[in-house]
Amino acid sequence: MSQDRHLILDNCIKCNICVANCPVVKVTDQYAGPKQNGPDLERFRLDEPAAVHPSIGYCSNCKTCDFVCPSGVNVATMNCKAKGEYVALNGAPLRDQVLGRVELICKAAQIAPSIVNWAAGVGPFRAMGEALFGVAAQMPFPRFATKTFLQQFKPKKIAHPKGKVLYYPGCYVNYYTPEVGLALAKVFAHNGIEMVVDDFNCCGLPTVSNGLMDAAKAYGVNNLAKLNRYIKEGYAVVTTCPSCNLMLRQEYHELFDMDTTLVTENTYDAFEYLLMCHEKGQLDRNLKRLPRRYGYHQPCHLRAVGYGVPSLEILRLIPELQVTALDAGCCGLSGSYGFKKEKYPIAREIGQNIVRAVADTGVKQAVTECGMCQLQVNHVTGLPVVHPIQLLAEAYGL
Ligand code: SF4
Ligand code: SF4
Repeated sequence: MSQDRHLILDNCIKCNICVANCPVVKVTDQYAGPKQNGPDLERFRLDEPAAVHPSIGYCSNCKTCDFVCPSGVNVATMNCKAKGEYVALNGAPLRDQVLGRVELICKAAQIAPSIVNWAAGVGPFRAMGEALFGVAAQMPFPRFATKTFLQQFKPKKIAHPKGKVLYYPGCYVNYYTPEVGLALAKVFAHNGIEMVVDDFNCCGLPTVSNGLMDAAKAYGVNNLAKLNRYIKEGYAVVTTCPSCNLMLRQEYHELFDMDTTLVTENTYDAFEYLLMCHEKGQLDRNLKRLPRRYGYHQPCHLRAVGYGVPSLEILRLIPELQVTALDAGCCGLSGSYGFKKEKYPIAREIGQNIVRAVADTGVKQAVTECGMCQLQVNHVTGLPVVHPIQLLAEAYGL
């Protein structure tokens, strides 16, 4: 029996703050809740790993419970491990095994992205996918880019770089929104920062969220080995996706007890890195006017890592750009969660907070760092949504 697990459990003071703030508990009674699945059942799991409530699959891994717990109990991590134990004992449906392996889906789709995009929009195909596999027909899939970010990126040699970064694009930017990675490359080059890329595995978050812990661990081992090599050569690691950032910086250690010391100390969100440059006076302040207004949605996993909201601080430097925080909490999609037939209504209901915030603020376009949040905000509100790095690149005239 692990002493550490005991100590963490004993910190739970049964205040129920995690339950009150869990976005899933707020909209459905199908989920037993973070405290019940977390510290309450964990006491039994110390001796009997099979002590998992079947409703564990309803946890979306948004990490709100970790963020709000006043006693520092890592409830979401407990739930992820418990989900992994449940899947190890009972197996996962074919759908979850496929949705959890985003990297494989993306690689397969690259054979003919236009055909996949077309098929993903055909109603009868989607209806069949829902009936046979339980993939929600109403949730639109993101569209694959015809050329990946790695295929399009051309490194720029900078004579006396102010910094050297290794960019970890993650599956979403590489396969769906290469324009985000290309905008980052332009912003870095413009500010004298050298950027390199490499071919990485998926960060493993979708894999963890579907309880496929062995596969996620294998991704983590490969990614860490490569990241450590670059860091030892003097590179900082930069991400544009908050979920990838969370995995690299925190979750490989929390979930798999891997030594992430170097990666944790040297990995940054792109705007966190740009803010550090700005504070050292190394960021070009010559920005064009952007006389527009956006609603900003903060992704849950950005909040979970706890480095604040550096994108808002940088976007405030752009003349006449107005960015209003929507302050609406979780968007509900949580990666593959909202694509599951039985979870789609829950995800959509959680997303109504965004709909209300958009109505209250009157914004006509939105900005957020997470690709899946972009998809959900667009799905529930119909608003166009961009990544903040695209606004910064535009303000530089790049
Ligand atoms: S991770 Fe999110 S959905 Fe899961 S228990 Fe915590 S707050 Fe609820
Ligand atoms: S918020 Fe933390 S201390 Fe309170 S019930 Fe949940 S796990 Fe326990």
